[in-house]
Amino acid sequence: MQQMGDDYRHKGMRKQLVEVLKGKGITDVKVLEAIGTVPRHLFIDDSAFLQHAYADQAFPIACGQTISQPYTVAFQTQLLGLRPGEKVLEIGTGSGYQTAVLCQLGVKVFSIERHRPLYLETRQRLERLGCKAQLLHGDGFKGMPQFAPFDKVLVTCGAPEVPEALLQQLKVGGRLVIPVGEGVEQQMICIDKKEPEVFVRQTHGAFRFVPMLADKAR
Ligand code: SAH
Repeated sequence: MQQMGDDYRHKGMRKQLVEVLKGKGITDVKVLEAIGTVPRHLFIDDSAFLQHAYADQAFPIACGQTISQPYTVAFQTQLLGLRPGEKVLEIGTGSGYQTAVLCQLGVKVFSIERHRPLYLETRQRLERLGCKAQLLHGDGFKGMPQFAPFDKVLVTCGAPEVPEALLQQLKVGGRLVIPVGEGVEQQMICIDKKEPEVFVRQTHGAFRFVPMLADKAR
């Protein structure tokens, strides 16, 4: 990943963030390495908020959305159990930070965002960083049938229920990680596709996400 505007101070702050995430129970070394590498401050529009970039907290971005908390990004990424070369579909590109973390882990990323301004801004940002992901302005409830099937699917907004299209677009042996719930909190659900119609589901605690809304916005 190309890192213009990234210096030793940022690297030091990322190192500290990695320690915080270890302390909170993230154990996957590759995931921690990726968090230690991706320049999160370049995903936050206003450089006045530099000190926030490496705090373990969510932060507002354009279109009333948020860049996910680093712990949440690390937790979801760890749950995916990625192997280099896998095809991963992400729902909710947002700032592109999670997308960049996935790219850093050597997977092929496909990501959908419903807000057009965010999609456009993030496409430029990821290009600048040399992060090659296939981005789409569209509705995540529909997935990306044209590129299916996927080894893994990651939803980064709170879904009212598990979208059928996403289960269909998963390979047998694949995994879907999705926060589900319509209140302020969602349950982190991990679904393994064992056979074309056989799914095994596990729950991994409560998280807070912006809602997954149907149909793309302008
Ligand atoms: N992974 C992002 C998280 C952004 S917040 C990051 O690290 O920055 C979740 C994003 O999901 C928001 O940008 C929101 O616009 C988007 N979203 C909500 N519903 C969606 C849908 N149906 N399809 C695609 N994106 C959606």
